[in-house]
Amino acid sequence: MVEMTDRCWASWQYCPKCAGHLEAAGGVGPKRCGRCGAVFYFNPKPTASAVVTRNGRALLVRRARPPFEGYWDLPGGFIEPDEDPIAAVKREVREETGLEIEIVDLLGIFPDRYGEAGEPTLNIHYLARAGTGEARPADDVAGAAWFSPNELPETVAFKNVAQALAAWVRRLNGPAG
Ligand SMILES: [Zn+2]
Repeated sequence: MVEMTDRCWASWQYCPKCAGHLEAAGGVGPKRCGRCGAVFYFNPKPTASAVVTRNGRALLVRRARPPFEGYWDLPGGFIEPDEDPIAAVKREVREETGLEIEIVDLLGIFPDRYGEAGEPTLNIHYLARAGTGEARPADDVAGAAWFSPNELPETVAFKNVAQALAAWVRRLNGPAG
């Protein structure tokens, strides 16, 4: 369901090119700059993450920064311009944990919101296998640990992370598991 007034989109009031006032068509529809005529669309930012497994356990990282500071999360992050999502998830896992991964399959794609501003995100989750070596948490990660499907934390950082972990558990329990 689309809200009539989106809190995040409503906060976009000025043109990022010329600082003119943005005129809204209403709802989550495009906004047009009254000064330079530029048109802006309210689109989600893509992210790429992975359920990285080893010996039947999934790798979670503890967030060192807001939003959801201190919560367990899947390794991953925002995709850079022109970056392939698979390259993005490999880069993020390497940056956050030092691990190299092999992608097994696409696990699911889940829309969500990010941070206090409620920025829309489109979250691509892969199933992956970890290479050898220990996970070494990087500076934006407060810790890393392997969880079996029946020991997963009750609360994780984002709704889309809970959805990805549920998809992983379903896959393990399903006919293809
Ligand atoms: Zn403008």
